Amino acid sequence: MAIVSSITNHSPFPNDRGEERLVGPSLLKEEFKLSQQDSLRPKSFDNFLGQSELKKVLAISVKASLKRGEALDHLMLYGPPGLGKTTMALIIAEELGVKARVTSAPALERPRDIVGLLINMQPRELIFVDEIHRLNSISQELLYPAMEDRRLDLTVGKGTSSRMRSIEIPPFTLVGATTKPAALSSPMRDRFGITQRLDFYNDDDLKNIIKRSAKLLNLSISEEASEHLAKRSRGTPRIANRLIRRVRDYAEVHSSSKTIDAHIVSDALYLHRVDQRGLDATDRSYLGLIIDQYQGGPVGLETLAAGLGEDSTTIETVVEPYLMQIGFLKRTSRGRVVTPAAEKHYLLVS
Ligand code: ADP
Repeated sequence: MAIVSSITNHSPFPNDRGEERLVGPSLLKEEFKLSQQDSLRPKSFDNFLGQSELKKVLAISVKASLKRGEALDHLMLYGPPGLGKTTMALIIAEELGVKARVTSAPALERPRDIVGLLINMQPRELIFVDEIHRLNSISQELLYPAMEDRRLDLTVGKGTSSRMRSIEIPPFTLVGATTKPAALSSPMRDRFGITQRLDFYNDDDLKNIIKRSAKLLNLSISEEASEHLAKRSRGTPRIANRLIRRVRDYAEVHSSSKTIDAHIVSDALYLHRVDQRGLDATDRSYLGLIIDQYQGGPVGLETLAAGLGEDSTTIETVVEPYLMQIGFLKRTSRGRVVTPAAEKHYLLVS
């Protein structure tokens, strides 16, 4: 399967100051190139660990469309960054035996970007559009007839002599990925035949992902070390793979042992200020602000953003989801409230 990539203008930064977090779910600058030839990316349903319901549903759809010799229905994948949306799209193309074109909404700003993408397709090709909620309305209007009727409506000529020309395009599958399904326009949402959500991974699945990655990187790692890394990976394979690479670097410099053990993991991640639950300095400042200055809450998002000097969208989309996921934070109508588990953890690590 060939992969054609045209992602541009992809912001790897989790906040507007351009700071990068080791345990942030977005791609780091140094990983951006790597992600396009990612040696750790699973290439089949079998190697895609966890998310069993998702795999079951998609495997059936893929088999059925192969049997009928038709293009797979348009598919929407949503969920937080780093959980495997791109990976799953590439696996589907592989299983379908078709070419995958990988792009993202910011690279499709002008009508000619969409036309260029759709005009030279082979039948049944898969087009992956990341951050699809960011497509502008002109691009969306062009995509609707393409998705529904395999038709590209082009305006030819200028001014009063301009006219509409429709071009037939081959059947294709659009896989749209988004971290913000609510931000998608409803006509766009309606055009996807299959919609699937990716959830945070549990520790067992992450442990298996870590063991698989270690093997691919020719590393020997103990059970306990894999468990420790899994607990610090924030439910996210991208973070798991990033941490294992950092631990490998640390072990190469500081350890003579051939096996990565729990001590090496603890020492390496202590150096990077990632604690036992995968929280970093940003998370701890956030929890500290609510606990020390607002007696655990409730406190409003804007107040927290001002107190941390961070923008509120970053806090809401990058910092809070994981804290809620592990039961450290509640969003209530009166504001954010930390739980007793968060207070206990904060006391322990601060
Ligand atoms: P997303 O598109 O959701 O942001 P990606 O598909 O780019 O996430 O996945 C991030 C990284 O995590 C990839 O490098 C991939 O190798 C790894 N990964 C994701 N899902 C899995 C999985 N289920 N099993 C093993 N590795 C995975």
